[in-house]
Amino acid sequence: MNPPRYFCENCGAEVRRNDKVCRNCGRFFNSVKCPKCDYSGEVKDFDFGCPVCGYAERATAAPEPFKAPPVPAGPLPVWVYLAVGLAFVGIVALLVNALR
Ligand SMILES: [Zn+2]
Ligand SMILES: [Zn+2]
Repeated sequence: MNPPRYFCENCGAEVRRNDKVCRNCGRFFNSVKCPKCDYSGEVKDFDFGCPVCGYAERATAAPEPFKAPPVPAGPLPVWVYLAVGLAFVGIVALLVNALR
């Protein structure tokens, strides 16, 4: 899990979570601003992402796990029963011949 990222509310430059001053524009700040919902709060509020919308920008978003479509479970075709029946009859016939 990547930590949430923080951006200067004045110039939008990315800043570190513990920065007290923007390295880009020099603005002092003791709050961070959510780039998604514009919520501003203390740095500690953003430890696990935006407390309002849950936004936490990640370097790489985990792709959705691929889910195979479920195979429809319908009744077996008639030829399956015929094949099983014929195989059974054939095995019985072989056994009968072998016992003779
Ligand atoms: Zn700035
Ligand atoms: Zn937010």
